[in-house]
Amino acid sequence: MKYKRILLKLSGEALMGDQQYGIDPKMLAAYAAEIKEIHNKGVEIAIVIGGGNIFRGLAGASSGMDRVQGDYMGMLATVINGMALQGALEDAGMQTRLQTALKIESIAEPYIKRRATRHLEKGRIVIFGAGTGNPYFTTDTAAVLRGIEVHADVILKGTRVDGVYTADPEKDSNAVKFDYISFEDVLAKGLNVMDTTAFTLSQENKLPIIVFDMNKPGNLLKVCEGATIGTTVTI
Ligand code: UDP
Repeated sequence: MKYKRILLKLSGEALMGDQQYGIDPKMLAAYAAEIKEIHNKGVEIAIVIGGGNIFRGLAGASSGMDRVQGDYMGMLATVINGMALQGALEDAGMQTRLQTALKIESIAEPYIKRRATRHLEKGRIVIFGAGTGNPYFTTDTAAVLRGIEVHADVILKGTRVDGVYTADPEKDSNAVKFDYISFEDVLAKGLNVMDTTAFTLSQENKLPIIVFDMNKPGNLLKVCEGATIGTTVTI
C-alpha cells in the first residue's frame, strides 16, 4: 500500500444515492464494502463526512435563518451521517469510533487528537463528526485540519466526479482531466478542488489531496495502492 494512514473525505450528498435528501442504506453498505477492502490491507483510516444531504448553514441563511444557528445545524447533520456510517462499518465487521468536535458524549467521544491516533494505531476506523466545531467552516476544512493533526499521508476526497478538469466536464465537452497538478496551478487556473480555506491549509502543510470517483467500485483500493486514479494535487 502506498499510504499507511489516510483521511477520507466523503460528502454528505454522496449518501443520498438516487434520493433527493437523506441517507440511502445502499450507499452506506457500498461505501462500507469499499472501506473494508483497504482496512483488510492494513491501511489506517480516518473519515470526515459532510452534512449537505441533510442541512447546510448557507442554505438556511439564504432563507432568512441566522447563519451561525444554521451552521451548527449543519454540524449536527454531519454527526447523523457519521452515526449512520459508523453503523454500516460495524455491520461489515470493522471496529470504529466516532469523535465529535461538539460534545455529545452519550453517542460519541469528544475529539481528542491523542486518542484518535491511538484508535488508528489499533486498526479502528475513526470518524470525525461535527466538522471543525466552528461556524463559517466546511467539512473539507475539517478534513484537512484533522488530516494534518493525525499525520495522515494524504487527503482522499471521494466525490461523484473522477478528478479535476480544465473546465466543468458536465458543461464543456472539451474539458480535460489532470492526473497531477500543483497547488499553485490550481490557484493560477482558478480551478475548484476544495474551498479556499481548506485548500490553502492543505497547501501550507504540504498535505497532498487526491480527488477521485468514490462511486466506482475498487477505486478506493486502487488509490491506496498508488494507481493513477483521479487527480493528485501536490506541492
Ligand atoms: N459546518 C460548519 N463548520 C464546520 C463544518 C461544517 O459550520 O467546520 C456546517 C456548515 O453549515 C455546512 C454544513 O455543516 O454547510 C455541512 O457541511 P458541508 O457543507 O461541508 O457538507 P458536504 O458539502 O461535504 O456534504
